[in-house]
Amino acid sequence: MMDRVLKGVGVAPGVTIGIAQVIQWELPAITRSVVSPAEVDGEIVRLGEALGSARAFLEDLRERTRHKAGAEEAKIFDAQILMLEDPELRNAVETLIRENQLSAERAFEFKTLEMRALWAQSPSFQLRQRIPDLSGIQVRVLGHLTGQGVGVVVHRVEAVDRPTVAFARELTPGLTVQLEREAVSGIASVEGAKTSHAAILARSLGIPCVMGLIDGLDRVQDGMEVILDGTHGLVVLEPTAEEIDAAKAGERLRGALEAKLAESNGQPAVTADGRPVQLRGNVDLPEELEGTVEHRADGVGLLRTEFLVLGRTTLPSEEEQRDYFVQVAERFPHHPVVVRSYDLGGDKFPAAFQAQPEPNPFLGWRAIRVCLDQPELFRVQLRAALRARLHGDIRLMIPMVTQIEEIESTKDLVEGCVRDLAREGIDAAADLPIGVMIETPAAAIMIDQIVSRCDFVSVGTNDLTQYTLAIDRGHARLADRFSPHHPAVLQLLERVADAADRVGVEASVCGEMASDPVSAFLLIGLGYRVLSVSPPSLSLVRWLMRQIDADGAAVAAEAALLASTTIEVEAILEQALARYVDLQLLKGGRLPSIVGAAKLKSFPGTRS
Ligand code: PEP
Ligand code: MG
Repeated sequence: MMDRVLKGVGVAPGVTIGIAQVIQWELPAITRSVVSPAEVDGEIVRLGEALGSARAFLEDLRERTRHKAGAEEAKIFDAQILMLEDPELRNAVETLIRENQLSAERAFEFKTLEMRALWAQSPSFQLRQRIPDLSGIQVRVLGHLTGQGVGVVVHRVEAVDRPTVAFARELTPGLTVQLEREAVSGIASVEGAKTSHAAILARSLGIPCVMGLIDGLDRVQDGMEVILDGTHGLVVLEPTAEEIDAAKAGERLRGALEAKLAESNGQPAVTADGRPVQLRGNVDLPEELEGTVEHRADGVGLLRTEFLVLGRTTLPSEEEQRDYFVQVAERFPHHPVVVRSYDLGGDKFPAAFQAQPEPNPFLGWRAIRVCLDQPELFRVQLRAALRARLHGDIRLMIPMVTQIEEIESTKDLVEGCVRDLAREGIDAAADLPIGVMIETPAAAIMIDQIVSRCDFVSVGTNDLTQYTLAIDRGHARLADRFSPHHPAVLQLLERVADAADRVGVEASVCGEMASDPVSAFLLIGLGYRVLSVSPPSLSLVRWLMRQIDADGAAVAAEAALLASTTIEVEAILEQALARYVDLQLLKGGRLPSIVGAAKLKSFPGTRS
């Protein structure tokens, strides 16, 4: 039975039933490899023409995407267009042509395959995620050079009279946008994750999508009936009638839940027994601001700042950062905006930063360690935050703290920046509240010493779970074992909430856990009253708060703290939560084969 169920990560929600079509990505075959010395100049001209025509094609696709999915989505093609314009790539291919007398197509193929191999091995998740963009340009340029045309259809989606579920090893944004919504009702791929460009497009186009199907693509055959569940990240091959009925019922439940969530929109996040909860948003990118405001978040509990440096060749100036922080603060005039200092390292190193590859990047030079070792970089951010604080309740939060000295050094640097700004006559706040992210067992264990030295703490449960359980948060094979409901993580969460409460310091949770209903119920039970969640989850968590009793949640949390296993913890929480909400509604119609496991986990362990 389980052989028929393929597990991945749901990246665009919804359930669909259709006929499988396996898309074969094939790079055009190259027949002409070497040229005579007299032909070299001509090959360089051909390369230029191919790059130009691929660019024109992508610009056209960008325009079509603007109409189909929106202006933001259309920008996805900028990455490929920029690659085509990259002088380094062009020079490298030209050198290969000149020095080795390769044909333009062989030289381009050679260089891009080399880049692909390098990126695939890179510790940078961001770089690995851009591989489909590279495939996009490979296909277009090689298609032109081999005479097959830039718009050549290298995949096969045969006309069938039922909706098609497209399966591919790798999805490029170009391919995703070319799939017709009417004909293709679902898509699935082996490569890719929530933040891949193709996943973003699938969400915008409203096509359910599952990525990360590590095992099993070879079990999918053209023409097979399948259910694709983009909410839970599952594909069922050749479903039984019972499974099809369950999938349809699940979709109805999803609709019912959405109607309920719409009712609580605009209502305060207060538990049924009257305890107010602050619901803030986690904002990774400027484009998420709108949704956070729309869902009436009580400010931004985690403003990630890595986007300011990733994918760029220069570091952002103080002005640019100040402007961004002011822009966010102005959207939340009555609420805090918690700026997290650069969480670089791990899977995120910008090109502008000459960082050496590390054998264990998550245990390496990361986050506050990088900032304190590079005070010039850190100071620019601190000064920007101090200046922006004149326009709103800007606070600063430092990630991955393991040593008390890191808090003290940050405070010293902030004080230094306050003095410098005053001396330079630049308008800025005279203080900056400093918060500490509790993301390591060391920080959770030393919480008493931490809360006596900072203004607030926020638990980053993604990393706290990773470091407590010694499970890489992005490891697809270990995703089942990665749970913040592990008793060890629960004990640390309790310890943090209690210590902060004793001294009256605000403790919030900003890890993905806060966006999950069962976990949010647990967190309220442990005493947390500030949750920072992903913007799309704001309405679900708000609705949940209005259904539950904080006292009932406390009783459930107390029982869960006595459990010895993750399964026991989850069983206790689900049983208690079932008194307030219909769990079926939350499960959104899991397929019968999975319902047996009775788990409400939604922690794929991928980076948010
Ligand atoms: C976390 O670790 O829980 C967190 C919120 O930070 P990030 O996911 O950005 O590492
Ligand atoms: Mg973290």
